[in-house]
Amino acid sequence: MTGAETVMARCDELAACSEEAERITRPFGSPSMKKAQELVGRWILEAGMRVSRDNVGNVHGHYEAAAPGGPTLLMGSHLDTVRGAGRYDGMLGVLVAIAAVQELHDAGHTLPFAIDVIAFADEEGLRFGSTYLGSRALAGTLSPADLNLVDARGISLAQAITEVGGDPSRIADDRWHGGDLIGFVETHIEQGPVLEARLLPVGVVSAIAGQNRYALTLKGEAGHAGTVPMNGRRDALAAAAEIVLAVEAEALARPGLVATVGKLDVFPGATNVIPGQVDLSLDVRHSEDPTRIETCAHILERAQDVGAQRNVTVTVKPVSENAAVPCSARLSQLLSRAVEDARLEVLHLASGAGHDGVAIESLTEIGMLFVRCKGGVSHSPAESVTTQDVAVAIDVLGNFLERLAAA
Ligand SMILES: [Zn+2]
Repeated sequence: MTGAETVMARCDELAACSEEAERITRPFGSPSMKKAQELVGRWILEAGMRVSRDNVGNVHGHYEAAAPGGPTLLMGSHLDTVRGAGRYDGMLGVLVAIAAVQELHDAGHTLPFAIDVIAFADEEGLRFGSTYLGSRALAGTLSPADLNLVDARGISLAQAITEVGGDPSRIADDRWHGGDLIGFVETHIEQGPVLEARLLPVGVVSAIAGQNRYALTLKGEAGHAGTVPMNGRRDALAAAAEIVLAVEAEALARPGLVATVGKLDVFPGATNVIPGQVDLSLDVRHSEDPTRIETCAHILERAQDVGAQRNVTVTVKPVSENAAVPCSARLSQLLSRAVEDARLEVLHLASGAGHDGVAIESLTEIGMLFVRCKGGVSHSPAESVTTQDVAVAIDVLGNFLERLAAA
């Protein structure tokens, strides 16, 4: 089997580690996660690395440098999934990194730096509704308050960590303490259609988009659908409809900006009642912070205008704000050269989705390689990548390591 075929077969093996029989669902601290971690631990050993596990449950593989005392390059991705996931989001980045080290090991080759391959225990946040638990532990930014998060069954993160053999009181020990770092390089499926449209197997990520989330509440007045005349109405849903279209228009007016109203709750929600209240979500993303911030201000202003015209009150609650995370110019340049070494055109693209690099960036600089996925589909059983594209990704990572060694 080639390295890429091995990666594909391993993605299938990991897909069988699930809490549900019919689909892939692998949350933090679950029996299926334990199984997946055992498999990854075995593959890490086969690739000539030392394996260890930290308190939060990240699995580390350590490949020694040619001489001790050198810096370390981090590579990897996450092993947890959303509910009803595909088999590549996260796992591919772990397995491609192991495959790249396997090639070094098979050739009896060591580099002037060590490589740590990390399989993060939680990125998607399915169980605790929080993101990046694994990479934040490594970055040393997991707070004591995070340990009090509870899952749907009332089990705290601290308890869950204890149950899988970690010590929540020593979570600070999970922070990287292996000396100088070169950076963190993650391979991940694109989760978008750009590479497919450009007929390219891989792309170099320029930045991870920043994101604002808001919860909007529109309050009008409920009334009888048959007796209240149209001109006196304060229909919260009609106002919401106008706001949704304004969100779309503001996003379309700015290249690279995406804005989404993904959730709409209508009250009282009956056929014969004028909607008195609508709660809606707003998600705005762009790779450059000023553009995102300016757009958010515009959208919220337009929402207030719509409310004023319709005599509907609009209340805005900010839910979260994450700044854009630029990828390191140095690592991106080396990745670009590595793509050229594979005789491919270099495409730089921003990531609309968040990744572990967002958390790792406070620890060391980050670089990302995207792999084409069919139709840009992710977080779905329809997630699909080709063996040929995986072979390219492994090849590019190998070229990258060589170039980094020579730099
Ligand atoms: Zn992912």
